[in-house]
Order: sequence, then C-alpha cells, then structure tokens
Amino acid sequence: MSDRWFGKAVREPGHPLAHGYPGIREPREKRGLVYHSAEGNLATMRRIILAPGPPSWTFSNPKVGRLIQHHERGTNVWANGSVAANLPFDACESEGVAGEPLTESQTQNLIDLARWYVKEEGWPGFKRLQQAWEHNEMVRFGAPPTACPSDRIPWNAIIPALEEAPMPQPTVEQILKVLELVNKWAEALRFDEPLDEKDRAAIHWLTKPS
Ligand SMILES: [Zn+2]
Repeated sequence: MSDRWFGKAVREPGHPLAHGYPGIREPREKRGLVYHSAEGNLATMRRIILAPGPPSWTFSNPKVGRLIQHHERGTNVWANGSVAANLPFDACESEGVAGEPLTESQTQNLIDLARWYVKEEGWPGFKRLQQAWEHNEMVRFGAPPTACPSDRIPWNAIIPALEEAPMPQPTVEQILKVLELVNKWAEALRFDEPLDEKDRAAIHWLTKPS
C-alpha cells in the first residue's frame, strides 16, 4: 500500500470527524486535485480544520514554509462544494486572499504536491480539467458557483513543471563503472602509466562538457 502522508509536508491532523460520507469507503482512489484560495490566513485555516464540521481539506499551503497535511491522501474531505466533487478529488487550500499572488514557495509546494499525487495515484499526468482543477470548475459536479481560487493558481508555472521528464537516475552498475574508471585514472596518473584506448575513451566521455 502506498504512502498516504506526503513526506515533504508537515502533519497536522484535522478534526477526526470532519470528513467522509456514511457507507462510502475511504481512503479511496482520487482522479484529481482541486486547488483553492483559503481567503484567510493560516491561523484562521487552522481553527477551521480543527472544527468538527465542514469545510475540511487535505492540504494547507502556507505563504511561508512546507505544506501542511491534515488528512490522508484519498480521504473524502469537504471542500469542493458537492458530494460528487468531494469524492473524486482531494483539496489543497493556499493561504491568502483574492488579488494576492502565491509566493514562490507556495507555487513550488503545489508543483511538489502534484508530482506526489501523479506518482502515488498513478495518474497519466497532471493536465488541466483532467487531474488539475480549480474550485470554480466543480460546478459541473454540482458545486455552487464560486470565484475560488480567484485566478491565484499560476498554472503557467505548474503545468510545464509537471511535464518535465524526471532526471534519469543512474543504476548501481553505472555508478560502480564510473568509480572503477576514476580509480584506474587515478592509478594511471600516480604511476604515470598510459591508459588503454578503451578506458581513455570512457574517461573522455565521462569528462566531456555536456
Ligand atoms: Zn475553494
């Protein structure tokens, strides 16, 4: 079973009763993530998330610092405006109000969060109106109209970041091969011995500017 708590987030559980619907299993698979504007500061958000009633959400995104996770990924939180919007989507509230752009760290947090969801939920990507949603777009799932998140989400930074291929990770064999070559190279330098052609070519390839 995959991890339902994001390693890059601080854990501050919300009220244990403020989520879910009778007879509906949770946590459940989610098909997307809804980004919100909290329209308030972190102190207000913390007060609401500790109350037994709605609204509740999965993550708070403070202006400064790490994401705060309140419920397990896949919990049926009450933020997206309707049951049909709360069941398939998790929710992240960014601190601040309409007219305030997200801080650089808030934008990075939303990128990191989306990456984690793509990996853990096995989504094919993070595309607008597929996995990447705004609260006001939940009207199609029966939610009342809202301005939230009031154009505060910098999709033009988030979506391209999610499209970048992850850096390829070297295999253990590749790392050992490099260490072996570096060792040979050091020995050759120490004893002033020529390297054979194959090793010379390999070292040239390793040290060439990319
Ligand atoms: Zn909202």
